[in-house]
Formats: sequence, C-alpha cells, structure tokens
Amino acid sequence: PRGASLTDFAEKINVEPAQLVQMLFSLGEMVTATESVNEETLQLIGEELNYIVQVVSPEDEDRELLESFDIEFGEDEGDESDLVVRPPVVTVMGHVDHGKTKLLDALRKANVVAKEAGGITQHIGAYQVQTEVDGEDRRITFIDTPGHEAFTAMRARGAQATDIAILVVAADDGVMPQTIEALNHAKAANVPIVVAVNKIDKPDADPTKVRGQLTEYGLIPEEYGGDAMFVDVSAKSELNLDKLLEAVVLTADASLDLRANPDQDAQGLVVEAHLDRGRGPVATVLVQRGTLHVGDSIVAGPAHGRVRAMLDEHGNELSVADPSRPAMVLGLSAVPGAGQNFIVVDDDRMARQIAEKREARERAAMQAKRRVRRTLEDFMAS
Ligand code: GDP
Ligand code: MG
Repeated sequence: PRGASLTDFAEKINVEPAQLVQMLFSLGEMVTATESVNEETLQLIGEELNYIVQVVSPEDEDRELLESFDIEFGEDEGDESDLVVRPPVVTVMGHVDHGKTKLLDALRKANVVAKEAGGITQHIGAYQVQTEVDGEDRRITFIDTPGHEAFTAMRARGAQATDIAILVVAADDGVMPQTIEALNHAKAANVPIVVAVNKIDKPDADPTKVRGQLTEYGLIPEEYGGDAMFVDVSAKSELNLDKLLEAVVLTADASLDLRANPDQDAQGLVVEAHLDRGRGPVATVLVQRGTLHVGDSIVAGPAHGRVRAMLDEHGNELSVADPSRPAMVLGLSAVPGAGQNFIVVDDDRMARQIAEKREARERAAMQAKRRVRRTLEDFMAS
C-alpha cells in the first residue's frame, strides 16, 4: 500500500502499531507510527516475522479472481447507443446536528411517488425520489446513511457509489470542522458538491455568512461567479426542497455524464445488509449498471444465491431494478458487507464458486493475522 502508514499496516495485520515501531527500532530502523512505510520496510517486517509480504490490494486480488471467471467489474458493455441516462446517486454529508437526518427524512416524505403509491416507507439504506425539472420527470437516488463514515467506508473498499454530495450547513451555526472534513472527502473523491444551507427558518440564520465561509475554502457559489449551487432550505419547515432536488439534477447535467447500459447483467454495490429473523439475509443493493431481475444468480461479497424477491423503499415488490435503483434483495446465503460488490453471473454454480473463493480468502487473511500476532508476541517476549 503506497503511502500507507505503519499504523495502517499494523491495523491490517491486527497488531499494535507500537509493537511494530519497537520491532523496527530493534532492527535499527527508526520509524514512527504515523510515518508512511515503503515496501522494503514491510519486507523487513515480513522477514523478521517469517512471512512473505506481498503488496497486493484486496481490490486487485478480487479483480483477478473475477477475471479467472471471465468477469469484469464496473465497466459498461455495449455501444455508446446502448447507454441511457441514469439518476444521480447522492450522499448527504455535513457537521453533526446540522440536519442531515432531518433533510433525508423530509426529502423522502416530500416524494410524490411515495405518496401516490401509498406504501409505508421503510428504511432500506437508500431510496429514490422523483422530481420535475424543466417539465421532465427526473429521478434521484439518495444513500440513506448520512455522514462521511459510510462514504469513506465504501471508498476504502475501492467502491464509489456517490455521484454528487449534498453538503448540509446549518445557517445559524455556519461552517464547522466536520463541514470541512466532508468537503475534503468529496473533493478527494472528485464528487461535485451542492450546498444545502439548512435551518433558514431560524431567526439567527445567516445564509450569506455560510456562502462567505465556504468561498474561503474554494467552494464558490454560482451567484458569486463560482460553479457550486447553494440552496437555502429548511428541513424542518420543508422549505425549498424542490429547489434542492432541482439543483442536484442541474449539477448532474452540467458536470457529469451519468449513463449506463440497462441491457446487460447487473452489477453494483451493497449499501447495507442484515440478517432478518423471518427472511434470512437481506441486502440493499445499488444497481450501477445493467438491470437486476428476480431469478438472477448473484454473488455479493462472500454471499451467493438466486434473487428470490426484491423490494423497494415502500415495501413494494420489484421484478426488475434498473441502473441507480436501490433494491432490497432476498435470497442470499449470507450477509455481505456494506461497500462490497454484487455481480450477476451465468448460473448458481458460478455464483457459489466465486463466493466460496472469497470466503476462503477472507478466512485465510484472518488466520494470517492471528499467526502474525502470535509470532510478534514471541518476538517481543524474546
Ligand atoms: P444530523 O446530526 O446532521 O443528522 O442532524 P439532525 O437531522 O439530527 O438534526 C439535528 C437537530 O436540528 C434536530 O433537533 C433537528 O430537529 C434540527 N433541525 C434539522 N433541520 C432543521 C431545520 O431546518 N430547522 C430547524 N429549526 N431545526 C432543524
Ligand atoms: Mg443524523
């Protein structure tokens, strides 16, 4: 891992960073825990602990596994003409208590389609809303786990679910440390930002101040000649939510080319998953390309199975899920992890084979961690 610190590495092999610092010191290498370590140092640690250190990322390893089954993850297949516009996938980020949860709830509630369907909304980790922009019906998918923890957890797995980030800033509080953190995460991921200046119903709200503050961080409002859209909202009073949705669509149209080929085997990401007492493992997946069908053979992380049923965020059964659509999938053999990928494969047998290989690899990695830990303890004791 280029640029990874000794602490990162220690975490990977499940030992205390201080132990590695100490060991390296006794070998004549002065390295602090936060310092990034090069491959030679990792090799040195490996030699000392009698391990072969191979610098391979889990993502590369998985890519190789899939290649051996002639599967490529993430690429659209087909011609340019097969691609159709897909809804943007949005993550809501911002400082604690600035209204991320309230905003996600308000947007879900404001959705006309949900009202018409009359279904009871349930939390499945993501939802889709419909809005009208320039007389056209447009859809937006929201990842319903606010905060940049989920965002970074996915990115750490090499997964990018988010197309656009809504940065929520409370107009009474202004820019706070986690506002900047969220901003930096979005920038690092190269994800365009729409700013929701929230709580404008409050008497001490100062949306102009928020604009000035973010300008200092290089996020310049359109009205000041920049390219970021700022929308004053109140999640509580449900004010300007349609304007916020419009800003998301306009930002997507202006700076992204969001298209996917729906006529191919589905692939995407697991947003969240859990074990349901009655239904067994359930996973909310986000389809990123292709169309997912009931009956498809899929592998999701170390889980496999046939899609027995799919539900949307209103509890309605779906027979298909198109690009950017979140769907709760029933029929998996186990509970996959958030951020792991799912892939439709030719048949159940292939799904099981891939899942078994992944599971074996996860098990081996765990055992290796335990062995390294024991060997390191011996080294320290001697
Ligand atoms: P989160 O930590 O960012 O998820 O923030 P929450 O959504 O939990 O909101 C924090 C607090 O601010 C709660 O008490 C909300 O009711 C309140 N809040 C959120 N949005 C608004 C708003 O637009 N106006 C007012 N007055 N209060 C809000
Ligand atoms: Mg919250």
